[in-house]
Amino acid sequence: MPDLVVDIAVGISVHKTFHYRAPGEMQDLLLPGTRVLIPFGSRRVTGTVIGLLSGVASDGLKQVIEVLDDHLSPELLDLARWMSDYYLHPLGLTIETLLPKALGRAVPKMEKMLCLIAGADTAAPKGPKQAALLHLLKEQGETAVSALDGFSRSTIKSLQDAGLLEITERELSLVPVTEAGIRDKPPELMPEQAGAVAEIGASLFSGTFGVYLLHGVTGSGKTEVYLHSIALLSGTGRGAIVLVPEIALTPQLLGRFQRRFGDRVAVLHSGLTDRERADEYRRIRSGGVDVAVGARSAVFAPFAKLGLVIVDEEHENSYKQEEGLRYQARDVAVMRAKLQAAVAVLGSATPSLESFFNAAAGKYRLLRLSARVDHRPMPEVAVIDLKAQPAEGGYAPALQAAIRERTEKKEQTLLLLNRRGFSSVLICRDCGTAIRCPSCSVSLTFHKPEAKLKCHYCDHVTFAPDWCPSCSGINLKLLGTGTQKVEEELQRLFPAAVVVRMDSDSVKGRQAYETLLGQVDRGEVDILLGTQMVAKGHDFPGVTLVGVVDADIGLNLPDFRSAERTFQLITQAAGRAGRGDRPGQVMIQTMNPGHYAVRHSTTHDYEGFYEEEIQYRRELGYPPFRRLVKFEVRSAQEQIASDAARKAFNRMRTMIRGNDPAVLGPAPSPVARVRGRYRFQILLLSERRDLLRRVALEGKSVVEDEYGRACRVVVDVDPVNLM
Ligand SMILES: [Zn+2]
Ligand SMILES: [Zn+2]
Repeated sequence: MPDLVVDIAVGISVHKTFHYRAPGEMQDLLLPGTRVLIPFGSRRVTGTVIGLLSGVASDGLKQVIEVLDDHLSPELLDLARWMSDYYLHPLGLTIETLLPKALGRAVPKMEKMLCLIAGADTAAPKGPKQAALLHLLKEQGETAVSALDGFSRSTIKSLQDAGLLEITERELSLVPVTEAGIRDKPPELMPEQAGAVAEIGASLFSGTFGVYLLHGVTGSGKTEVYLHSIALLSGTGRGAIVLVPEIALTPQLLGRFQRRFGDRVAVLHSGLTDRERADEYRRIRSGGVDVAVGARSAVFAPFAKLGLVIVDEEHENSYKQEEGLRYQARDVAVMRAKLQAAVAVLGSATPSLESFFNAAAGKYRLLRLSARVDHRPMPEVAVIDLKAQPAEGGYAPALQAAIRERTEKKEQTLLLLNRRGFSSVLICRDCGTAIRCPSCSVSLTFHKPEAKLKCHYCDHVTFAPDWCPSCSGINLKLLGTGTQKVEEELQRLFPAAVVVRMDSDSVKGRQAYETLLGQVDRGEVDILLGTQMVAKGHDFPGVTLVGVVDADIGLNLPDFRSAERTFQLITQAAGRAGRGDRPGQVMIQTMNPGHYAVRHSTTHDYEGFYEEEIQYRRELGYPPFRRLVKFEVRSAQEQIASDAARKAFNRMRTMIRGNDPAVLGPAPSPVARVRGRYRFQILLLSERRDLLRRVALEGKSVVEDEYGRACRVVVDVDPVNLM
């Protein structure tokens, strides 16, 4: 057989693929998506076959060393190609992101399963032990040997020899099944929920691609719509992917899926080891799973046949990966559904402007849930104007009174403050200098328990100085309000109340988070105080008062999405109130009661907010009207970063026609230095993706050619973080 020439994507930072020669006997093993070991320079690396070439001379090409027992499915290879092209990321590196790290190394763990052989006579007497085991298998169906209690191996063996039961092996799920075996009965749906499920179902059975935006107010039972829709896939052999924000992956949520779908649920979260992740991946690929629930990367769950992709809380920023391949999992989910003729459902109480815009334009179909389940009322929202009613120690008198009333009635209060730390800055009253991080251009935040200053952009930690590093003055003062300070003040105002703080300083890791949620659920906490962590997804049935301590914090950030984020945060936090039997109340403290983000959140009026916000985006030509690409140059030397950004900018300017794309900058990034690297950014805006792509890649190659390793270019397509 003649040699074959194959096109291979290698996991390196180069926007091209490479040709290799494969000996004739490998031909049957090589398909697009096959993983291979190849020589690359002086190394051996893993690559992925992306094409088989005919009529190309193999002379002088290096030879494929080995075909690996691993592959990327054709559907995922298509997805990787799209992502590589859309996010301007090399194909080989994109493929590496799609595959779990330990795949191809780990060997799956197997477990032994017992089941009755069809038609076996279980009634005939066989002694009490054997009869009991037969009875159990008849009741429970297939059962793991490890789950049996009190049956000896000889009992099992005798029944096997008698041809009454058989032993099979299956891959062991490493993710513990909570409350195994207990299945719940799906609840009766509200009319709007039932209508949504019916529409999604019609799409599922038509077998064509479609996207739904499920816009349901907080507490309207979106999860139940997901569960019912997934149940429609039962028996079709098509899988479902459910994406949830990492922080919402609680045992509470997973329990709901497992009680409905048993152990055919795979869970993919950041707490898994590489090996566990690879095992779950393989279990999905081998058809042992119907539903994969997970954070961002679960969008790559390798279902060969896919029916449904659900993105819960689709507006969440955490769906955007902020390093390496900077993909937006929500958008990848829609593309994944398209490539596999599946249905995508994006759910939120506060949809992203982009998604609602697509629904308004008819690209997505809009499904509304306008009422809460069980006819619970929406919480009543009051705005406290801090200009008229100053907040003493952070709390206006009206809010203090409301909290007092709750603690006396033994009801729970949830307070949102979107800023960590005791106090924002330590500032010198003599010269006005704020104590800053030595490697980032941000002020350090004071953390009281350790009396230390911490940088929230890098890991820098230091003791608070006794004098000003700039003028040596000793009048250092804490300015601003953080969660720790607000907690102290609360404790002073309500000495008898149990106050618990929840932010990324007090809650380290999944375990701590879940322990805390448990305390709140059991009513052991009177006041829960926290950052945006408390505003997300979790149900607190005992909470009847939600206070937003400072609604203005996010409004003044130099980011065109600041109003959208503020609206989302207030609305989501307000949505935590009154989810149990008692009605809820919400109080919002603000200096800007007239701001449309505040105003519309008080009436739970998403569409009112959307109308004003979309007007502003239209006028300025921001997304969703034009696409945005952030082009950032980073270097340890400020001059190099600045010069390189200027060179890229000048080249880009020569490429534009009629101000398209718009090229803004170059300017220091709002946080101009992080971890010792200076950052300059250029923003590109255009309706045309091909133009953005060409201009961004040209700018990148200009910088890379001239500066090599002295600089790094980060191209972020559809960025969510402009800081
Ligand atoms: Zn000073
Ligand atoms: Zn820092």
